[in-house]
Amino acid sequence: MSTLFEKIIARDIPAEILYEDEVCIAIKDIEPQAPVHFLVIPKKVIARLGEAEKFDQSRLGHLLLTASQVARELGLVDGYRTVINNGIHAGETVPHLHVHVLGGRQMKWPPG
Ligand code: AMP
Repeated sequence: MSTLFEKIIARDIPAEILYEDEVCIAIKDIEPQAPVHFLVIPKKVIARLGEAEKFDQSRLGHLLLTASQVARELGLVDGYRTVINNGIHAGETVPHLHVHVLGGRQMKWPPG
């Protein structure tokens, strides 16, 4: 069965796409937790960071560089937060790796 994000990548489910290339896609989060909240998702399904393998190294780097590029394009000059929820304790809800990028407001630390 396809993951939710595979369905978005296949255009079976609509999403607001901010960026796409052969490795990943960046979409607006449907339930934004900040004025700017988008997700960078690899096209290859990796369930979560903890299941990434050595050969995913450049793919993982690509996700972070894409997060940085899209954040710059969206004008997040005062900073932003990247989050990867891995597993139950982190509150992961979609088992297809994604990098959250949140910005446009002051973030708190420690996170909840
Ligand atoms: P996580 O809880 O870290 O697995 O993050 C999953 C994220 O996907 C949440 O922030 C959701 O709001 C977001 N999400 C769920 N469905 C959609 C959708 N159809 N389009 C965009 N974002 C979604």
